[in-house]
Amino acid sequence: MSECVFCKIVAGEIPSRKVFENERILAFDDINPQAPTHILLIPKKHIESLNDAASDPALLGEIVSRSAAIAGERGVPEFRLVTNTGRQAGQIVFHLHFHLLGGRRMGWPPG
Ligand code: AMP
Ligand code: ZN
Repeated sequence: MSECVFCKIVAGEIPSRKVFENERILAFDDINPQAPTHILLIPKKHIESLNDAASDPALLGEIVSRSAAIAGERGVPEFRLVTNTGRQAGQIVFHLHFHLLGGRRMGWPPG
């Protein structure tokens, strides 16, 4: 059995609040939201980070375009899409995920 928390969510072994699902990708609410809307979009297959995703640009494109569709459906057409890649960048879960954040004003640059 995989020890990866997001693989467990895909497998239904850990509960999640699903926002969107198809054969390739899953979107669910972040358990520790940093904005009124904080959704994670992930590939269902295990990919550690964006550094391991170059072989599947179609999958990345689907996730990015789906994020905008979800933001629109949620009524947050102004949003931020973030992928932390590596520990120094803040990646804690090593299953590729995109944070969709919206519903509040956000600062720049990030801390
Ligand atoms: P990162 O720091 O980019 O690796 O982000 C990992 C994110 O996963 C954090 O925002 C966590 O709150 C979130 N997270 C961890 N475990 C779960 C879970 N079981 N369900 C939903 N979100 C989770
Ligand atoms: Zn995984």
